[in-house]
Amino acid sequence: MVQHSPLNIILHSEQARIVRRSRHPWIFRSAISACEGAIENGAQAAVCDGEGKRLGTGFYSTGSKIACRVFFWGEGEPPADWAAGRLAGALAVRSALAIDSDAYRLVNAEGDFFPGLVADVYGGTIVLKPSIRGVERLVNDLAGAIISLLPGRAVYVKRDEKASRVESMELPTGYLIGGGDDTAVPIMERGLRYLVDIREGQKTGFYLDQRENRRIVGDLAGGRRVLNLFSYTGAFALTALRGGARLVDSVDLSRKALEEAQRNYSLNGFPEPHEARWIRADGFEFLDQASEYDLIILDPPPFARSKGEAPGALRGYRRLQSVAIRRLAHGGLLAAFSCSGAVDMAAFKQVLFEAAGESGRPVRVLRELHAAEDHPWSIAHREGEYLKGLLAYVE
Ligand code: SAH
Repeated sequence: MVQHSPLNIILHSEQARIVRRSRHPWIFRSAISACEGAIENGAQAAVCDGEGKRLGTGFYSTGSKIACRVFFWGEGEPPADWAAGRLAGALAVRSALAIDSDAYRLVNAEGDFFPGLVADVYGGTIVLKPSIRGVERLVNDLAGAIISLLPGRAVYVKRDEKASRVESMELPTGYLIGGGDDTAVPIMERGLRYLVDIREGQKTGFYLDQRENRRIVGDLAGGRRVLNLFSYTGAFALTALRGGARLVDSVDLSRKALEEAQRNYSLNGFPEPHEARWIRADGFEFLDQASEYDLIILDPPPFARSKGEAPGALRGYRRLQSVAIRRLAHGGLLAAFSCSGAVDMAAFKQVLFEAAGESGRPVRVLRELHAAEDHPWSIAHREGEYLKGLLAYVE
C-alpha cells in the first residue's frame, strides 16, 4: 500500500467510485473499508481507493458519523497555503456581491469548500465558529490568515456547544485577536443599526442568512399590519417598519432576544405613525388567539435536525401555516420559512398546499425564498441548501 500520510482511509470500491465522481465532501464511516496509521481526532487523512490511489485529503473525526470531511481533492498533498487560498477565494466571492451591509458570511463551510468552518464578519469583528476538531486545531493560523485579508479587525472564536461534544473540541469562546471585553458588536444592514451579541446570541449572533428575505418582505410591508412570529432580535420587524408597516407585532419565547430587539428598535428612528409591540409568548399559542394581520412572517427554529424528525417538523410547519393563513386579511401575505436541512423545498411546498387546503382559502405563491448569496452551497453538497421559504398571496 502506498504510504501517503500518517492516516490513510481506504474506501470500499463502490464508495470510492461515488466519491471520485461526486466530490461530495462527506465520507461516512460505513464507506470505509480500512484505516491505516495513527487514528487521531482532527488529523488530516488521505482518502484512498482500494488500490491506494489518493482521491483527496480530509479532516478525520472519531466522534461523528461523518468520519472524514474532504477539504482538498487530488492525488498530491494539499499545498501548505491551501487554507489561506480558500479564505481568499471566499472573500473574492463576497467582493463580487452587492451586499448592502457590513455584516455578512465570509466562509460558509462546505459551500466555500471549507468543511467545519463558519466565519462571519460583523463590522470590525470576525466570528469564527469551527464545528470539527480538524478546523479547531487550525484556528490560530486561520485567524492570522483572515486578518491579513481583512486587516485591523478583531477575531472572536465562538464555541459550537453541540459540535464540541460530538467532536471533543476544547477551545473556549473568546477573542483571539483584539476585542477586549465587549461582545456587543454594532452592525448596519441596509441602513438599519443593530447590536449583535456574539457571545450569547444564536448562531454567531445574527441571522445573516435572512438578509435578502428581510429586504424582499420589508419592501412589501408598507401600510400593513405585520406579525413577525419567532422574531429573535427583531430584524424582520425593523425591516418591515423601515418599509412603512403600520403595526409590527414581534413574538418570541426568549426574553433576552426581545430585550435586544427593543434595543435595536431604539437605535433606529422610524417614521410615525406606527406601532411596534414586543410579545413574549409561544408562537403556536399566540397564533391560535391572534387577530387579523396583512403580513405574517413565520421563521421558526429548525423543527427537524435529522431525517427522522422530518415528519414531525412538517406537521409543525403545517399547523403554523394553516392557522396563519386564517389570520390574514384579504390580499394578505405569508412569508413562511424552514431552516431544517431535512425538509426540502418540494416537501415545504406540499406543507403549504395542505395548509391552504385546511384553511379553505386560495393561496398563490409569489416567489421561492432562499438563503442570501453570501451563503453559497456547493452543487456537490446539497445539504448546504438548508434555508427555504415561500412568499404567498392569500385571497
Ligand atoms: N427571524 C429571526 C430569526 C428567528 S430564529 C431573524 O431574522 O433574526 C427562531 C426564534 O424562535 C428564536 O429567537 C427562538 O428564541 C424562537 N423560538 C423558539 N421556539 C419558540 C416558540 N415555541 N415560540 C416562540 N418563539 C420561539
